[in-house]
Parts: sequence; C-alpha cells; structure tokens
Amino acid sequence: MEQTAELYKDLDEILVTKEEIREAVRELGQTITRDYAGKQPVLLCILKGAVMFFTDLIREIDLPVTCEFMAISSYGSATKSTGVVQIRKDLDRDILGKDVIIVEDIVDSGITLNYLKNALLMRGPATLRIATLLDKPSGRKVELKTDYHCFTIPDAFVVGYGLDYDERYRNLPDIGALSPRIYAK
Ligand code: 5GP
Repeated sequence: MEQTAELYKDLDEILVTKEEIREAVRELGQTITRDYAGKQPVLLCILKGAVMFFTDLIREIDLPVTCEFMAISSYGSATKSTGVVQIRKDLDRDILGKDVIIVEDIVDSGITLNYLKNALLMRGPATLRIATLLDKPSGRKVELKTDYHCFTIPDAFVVGYGLDYDERYRNLPDIGALSPRIYAK
C-alpha cells in the first residue's frame, strides 16, 4: 500500500516509515541474537498489536526460538488505558526456568506491561525482558524499564503496523499519528 492510499488520509503525520521499521527490527534481531547466544529464548507476542513486529522480529533472530502468544485487554477510553488488565488468552506452555522476551507494540503509561511483567515473574522464568517497538516516555505513570525498544515517539495516538484504533488501521505499513478528528467524534 502506498502512502497515497485512502487509509492514510486519517493520519496527521507519518512518524515512522516502513523502511525505518525494517532497519530497526533487523538491528534488534541481531542484538537479541548476540545477547541470547547459546540460549533458546521464548518470544512472547502480546496480541493483537504486536503481531507484525513479532513476525518480522523472530525472522531476524538466528537462534532456536519458540513462540508463545498472550492476549490481554486493558480497559479505559479508546485512546488511554486505566490499568485494569485482564488476561484473555494465556500461554500454552509454562515458562519455568525459560528465558522469556515479551514482545509488545507500545509502552505508554507502562501500566499494562508492569502488570503483565509481575504476573509472569510469579511463574519463575530464568530471565524476563521486554522488547517494545515504540516507547512513549511522556505518558509514563509507573516506573517501567524496557530492555529493548526501536523508536521513541512523542505523545500522540499512533496507528499502523499492527496498532489499531477501534480495530482499524492495523494494516497500514507505516506508523502515523491518527488525526484527533477520527477519535474525537
Ligand atoms: P499502557 O498500559 O502502557 O498505557 O498502554 C499499553 C497499551 O495501550 C498498548 O499495548 C496499546 O495496546 C495501547 N496504546 C497505548 N498507546 C497507544 C497508541 O498511541 N496507539 C495505539 N493504537 N495503542 C496504544
């Protein structure tokens, strides 16, 4: 899809292009390959927003990774989370003694991942790290350190490359700030 496509008309600006994403994901895959040399990390995809990042990232990691999926929902308004988090789909296998990397689309307030990290730590992984595509540090409400992130973005509501607004825009190849006229309706 080109940036002249119909769907792009709802964006105020493009913040990260697909070429920038491809390059950053490749670099991150190489970093994880080095950091986890000799190990078999479990890559844990947080559905649905991280799907595209996850499928691209695992193909850049030259290690015998295994894949897990979790779905969580955090309640709030359409564009802000409140911190009430529910696990809607849990892991298929246990992670006791495993090296786990949570793969997330974006960290904003940090509340969702903080909850998830604590819940997973109780299951006894050997190590637990967070890889996020986007980091929005201006939105942070709880202290949460990400171990790997590709891009720092300003305080805008973004969509594309897996990120949605009301389940739409996930299929945009680039990441952009959604025009407030769409979600202020
Ligand atoms: P947090 O709990 O860190 O505030 O938010 C985490 C979740 O809120 C993310 O996994 C994502 O689903 C959603 N979120 C936060 N900021 C944005 C954004 O700018 N765009 C979209 N589409 N989702 C966001």
